Amino acid sequence: MKPLLEVSSLSKSFQVKGPLGTGRKQLLAVDQVSLHLHQGETLGLVGESGCGKSTTGKLILRLIEPDSGSIRFDGSELSGMSQRQLRPLRREMQMVFQDPFSSLNPRLKVGELIAEPLQIHRLAKGAQLRSETIRLLKTVGLGEEHLDRLPHEFSGGQRQRIGIARALAVKPKLIVADEPVSALDLSIQAQVINLMRDIQQEFELTYLFIAHDLAVVQHISNRVAVMYLGRIVELAATDTIYRAPRHPYTEALLNAVPVPKPGKTRRPPLAGEIPSPLEPPSGCHFHPRCPYAKQVCREQRPELVDIGSGHLSACHFHAEVGRFRRS
Ligand code: SF4
Repeated sequence: MKPLLEVSSLSKSFQVKGPLGTGRKQLLAVDQVSLHLHQGETLGLVGESGCGKSTTGKLILRLIEPDSGSIRFDGSELSGMSQRQLRPLRREMQMVFQDPFSSLNPRLKVGELIAEPLQIHRLAKGAQLRSETIRLLKTVGLGEEHLDRLPHEFSGGQRQRIGIARALAVKPKLIVADEPVSALDLSIQAQVINLMRDIQQEFELTYLFIAHDLAVVQHISNRVAVMYLGRIVELAATDTIYRAPRHPYTEALLNAVPVPKPGKTRRPPLAGEIPSPLEPPSGCHFHPRCPYAKQVCREQRPELVDIGSGHLSACHFHAEVGRFRRS
């Protein structure tokens, strides 16, 4: 079966001001990213802040223009399409944002916010528009009584539900969810993730689920891709990633996952600062923070290769990984 989404060698750089007025520099935000998603599947995309995961999501939806690479969605090549050519496909690819409050017009009532995409895409009008709006509200766990309220009257979790209802309104095939639960309390995170799982089955949705925390994507993803400084460094089935990671960065992220035991607090985060993407380390970008690093790591970039059964790793010493795993 052909994937719904197939991304190959996607790259994007930005011109930014260098430190202390050192002139403009090139920041390679996304570096040769390749991934695919089958219909109904969820791929978790994980990495520290600034690793390029949100930029990857926006590139896939063509909200920003890639420098190079291919994006095939449902049989159509998106890169190179004009905005006019993209318009009919926009409906099928929606985004859910981290902070739904900033993406919801504060002056519109919730009923208007959810009806808006239905009207823009001429999917309903009159009595049908109202009944469809109420149906969407109920789908995300809200109700008719919420129709006339303004966004500020809702909690963060409820606002995220409204954002999801807006995305669902146009019956998309793909949803790029960019840190959809990062701003929410832990118990609310679980509720929103459960909601996303439920509607995924009901609407046959495909998700690219972006998060900075491996624990968040575990229960919703079929596969997980880990990004570091613009590159995918590991990609595998979810249980494989959690049971037997084959990249030291993934192992370090797993070591930083909170321990769900009373009295236990979150383990120390990854050692060392994330290097500046303006001057990334030579060879393997991870080498200054990597406990497995050897001389070759400073000199040669490890390619992302299949190390067995579709498990991809970009590490010269992937077979050694596991020595520093904390249980
Ligand atoms: Fe560490 Fe070397 Fe593997 Fe990079 S290639 S992750 S530095 S062992």
